[in-house]
Amino acid sequence: MNDFEFHSPSSLEEAFELLDRYGDDARVMAGGTGVVLQMKQRLSQPGHVVGLRKVPGLNSIGLTGNGSAGGIEVGAMVTHRTLENDPTVVQILPMVAATYHHVATPRIRSMATVGGGLVHGDPNEDPPPTLIALGALVVLTSSSGRREMPVEELFVDYYETDVQPGEILTSVTIPQQPPGSGSAYLKFLPRTADDYATVSVAAIVTRGNGNTCSDVKIVLGAVGMTPVHATQAESLLRGQTLTPENIAACASAVKEVVDPLDDFRGSAEYKRDMAEVFTRRAIEQAIQQTLENRPAA
Ligand SMILES: Cc1cc2nc3c(=O)[nH]c(=O)nc-3n(C[C@H](O)[C@H](O)[C@H](O)COP(=O)(O)OP(=O)(O)OC[C@H]3O[C@@H](n4cnc5c(N)ncnc54)[C@H](O)[C@@H]3O)c2cc1C
Repeated sequence: MNDFEFHSPSSLEEAFELLDRYGDDARVMAGGTGVVLQMKQRLSQPGHVVGLRKVPGLNSIGLTGNGSAGGIEVGAMVTHRTLENDPTVVQILPMVAATYHHVATPRIRSMATVGGGLVHGDPNEDPPPTLIALGALVVLTSSSGRREMPVEELFVDYYETDVQPGEILTSVTIPQQPPGSGSAYLKFLPRTADDYATVSVAAIVTRGNGNTCSDVKIVLGAVGMTPVHATQAESLLRGQTLTPENIAACASAVKEVVDPLDDFRGSAEYKRDMAEVFTRRAIEQAIQQTLENRPAA
């Protein structure tokens, strides 16, 4: 690791001032689980590291909108462990709590933050598919203002996001699932329980009248340079009856849009097959949940 100067600003304004002053030579640090590894491997050699731990206002979880009809706003420095255990999140966004629970080990989850995980831009991470399926938004703030964008638009390429020099991801807003919907996040882990996914799938199915699908979201992780939103596959199920044949056709269509890498977790061909299998299972589990959540007649 190269020598660097560590800065610990006590306000966002001070953090922006440091980022503006040092430009390309500065790197933000949140939980440090990703950036420290990159620095040790000399993939990143900043002269200045700007730690966010002491910046107030980035650590809260709050309700947005009309209480239970809204969603939650999560500060960028909230850790994965806090989010998975937060009683409000567990109650109104159980899919989010369950997804963050799937990340690595309790030790990593106690360090890694919601904002750091997103800006890291690793396509094998667990949270992005779920956050994209739910239509979550991020807020990026800098000395020149604030912009908001769908999480889906944040990911530009392999380990590359749309966060611009001088910007800090300050919060994530996550809407609740639509009424009448069920969801599932499945992580295929054939090696060890704390590994990154070989393939992961987030699915949300909204049931219309009878046995029809009024809406569906399918987003996959670990099968491309960025998370893969399988919109073409969704269109094969949306408006259709939820029959095994229609579900199978929808799951099969994800094979056309995933583009996995050959690596020690499996060949690209194997991952493509697993993408289909886990998409079908995720849709089936989401449908099962819509039945369990149905109000009693
Ligand atoms: C051994 C190990 C196993 C893991 N397994 C998994 C897994 O199975 N699934 C999974 O999803 N994740 C896993 N992770 C975690 C994941 O890969 C990242 O390391 C983690 O999410 C990064 O969060 P952080 O808060 O530590 O970010 P940091 O390491 O502090 O930062 C990551 C990047 O984001 C930037 N950054 C951080 N915060 C902000 C901000 N608020 N605004 C702007 N830029 C910012 C940094 O400059 C850096 O580029 C694992 C990590 C380790 C070390």
